[in-house]
Amino acid sequence: MFNDTEKWQGSPESIAYKPGKGVFLALLAVSALAVLFGGFFFWYIPTVGLRSIHPLLPYLLGAVLLAVSLFIIGGAAFITSAAIRGRVPFYSSRFRWMLVKVYLPLMVMAGGILKIPKIKIERAFIELNNQMVKMMGRKFRPEKLLILMPHCIQYDNCKIKVTRNVRNCAGCGKCEIGGLLSLSDEFGVSLFISTGGTVARRKVLEDRPDAVIAVACERDLTSGLQDSYPLPVIAIVNKRPRGYCMETGVALEEVKQAIRDLAGAA
Ligand code: SF4
Repeated sequence: MFNDTEKWQGSPESIAYKPGKGVFLALLAVSALAVLFGGFFFWYIPTVGLRSIHPLLPYLLGAVLLAVSLFIIGGAAFITSAAIRGRVPFYSSRFRWMLVKVYLPLMVMAGGILKIPKIKIERAFIELNNQMVKMMGRKFRPEKLLILMPHCIQYDNCKIKVTRNVRNCAGCGKCEIGGLLSLSDEFGVSLFISTGGTVARRKVLEDRPDAVIAVACERDLTSGLQDSYPLPVIAIVNKRPRGYCMETGVALEEVKQAIRDLAGAA
């Protein structure tokens, strides 16, 4: 427990939250193989029946299934290259679409079958998403960036209401909100402390930022990334020395780096 005289020191003892892209990549390989075999299976079985309708129909179906399989396997190869080498021969926003809309649900399904903890898949997904957002190479005006923080980052005994107006924070140093405000002032980016996912989504709809830096737990970040696509979001997993939803923390240096990545600031 913290008392009023203790100063918040960050959360170095927090859980080791750095991924882990290996799980996602392994599942990606398994899924790509499953797609390949599945494609062959779905081509082979109806082939017998289709041939009786028209001799060319099996080839037509085969071509369609081959195209879909190549598309999915090509995306898997791209994501793997991005994860391992940190670069790709060319970038297309379609690959991030595939990661968010196709591979994540596939990986969660495959992970469920193989009994891989969902949180591992989410961490790897978050890391890959961040890599792809950086690969976009787009730079945004700082005033069009929004930092979204969950209210559980606030010191539990702080009586100041920061969810309406973060500027109410007195910067006493017992939690990281004061440090985040300094970053917000230094770079000229907006900072919002949200009471929940719905409020965060509403804030994004109202402010219409060009890009977002979001801090939360893996589950909230993953659902937020899915909901906010195609908005570029750099997601940062919070620290949880006292468990979920209570006096959580964030590495300020990571937030600063994310601002630099998105704004191109020095
Ligand atoms: S919100 Fe501001 S005033 Fe309240 S504990 Fe955190 S740093 Fe101190």
